[in-house]
Amino acid sequence: MPNISYTSCPICKAENFESVFYVKDYTVSGREFEIVHCKSCGVRLTQNVPGENEIGAYYKSADYISHNHNSKGLISQLYRKVRNYTVKQKAGIIKKYTKLSEGSLLDIGCGTGAFIYTMAQLRWNVTGLEPDADARNTAKALYGIETLSSDCLFSLPADSFNAITLWHVLEHVHRLHENVAQMKRLLTKDGVIFIAVPNYTCQDARVYGKYWAGYDVPRHLYHFSPHAMEVLMQQHNLKVVKKLPMWFDSFYVDMLSSKYKNGSVHYIAAGMHGLMSNINALRKREECCSLIYVVK
Ligand SMILES: [Zn+2]
Repeated sequence: MPNISYTSCPICKAENFESVFYVKDYTVSGREFEIVHCKSCGVRLTQNVPGENEIGAYYKSADYISHNHNSKGLISQLYRKVRNYTVKQKAGIIKKYTKLSEGSLLDIGCGTGAFIYTMAQLRWNVTGLEPDADARNTAKALYGIETLSSDCLFSLPADSFNAITLWHVLEHVHRLHENVAQMKRLLTKDGVIFIAVPNYTCQDARVYGKYWAGYDVPRHLYHFSPHAMEVLMQQHNLKVVKKLPMWFDSFYVDMLSSKYKNGSVHYIAAGMHGLMSNINALRKREECCSLIYVVK
């Protein structure tokens, strides 16, 4: 399959693009990819992005930490510390919006399973889907949890999950509409979907421009604005009922952005940026670097 060259917007179908800039793949290939902006719905796209069968090569790096439990280095260590905190925060959000203390949960793109393990301990019935076989094996070794390959999304029984979660996953999937349609099919009548994605309309992204780590090309196919996410959900008769800021993600993304821009991490500067960005988002939540969309 060749690279995907968009001539119309995969979300709103408009043919109204403008070029934003070229962003470098800092983690794996060093290649540059063009970011184009849909002037109709506001989504940004990674142009000429590798197809579903070719993208795997761009995940092959020891630095790609969400799949690598053992990678060392200060940023990776911080990532895991923060993850322990955010996992608990996510559990609280799920209980609040489903109004359930226990239920059935599907985590799409569960990685090495830290989140579903926490939910299982809280007596939720969990199912995890993960495309990467190594990550699935790690989930089993670490937590004793059997996770399924991503294709199982299409064969799981309808109306079976009170909560469906995608933590920084939707921006990676090639079959965007098929995935959203399956999520809707699998959700119970009162179920809730939680979608976390980076938000390129945040202050950090404006400060760092093409160095903003939230672009993460070519692994991120789509770069959502709050409006673009609402348009996508509307097309599937789903509704964004709440947008929640993910405060701690700002610090992490900021440190990576600083590393990309300056060649090394300027921790204090990055910390200050992250802090400023969060203070800004306190005033205007939709400007947080990373948002959880609560969808019904
Ligand atoms: Zn569009």
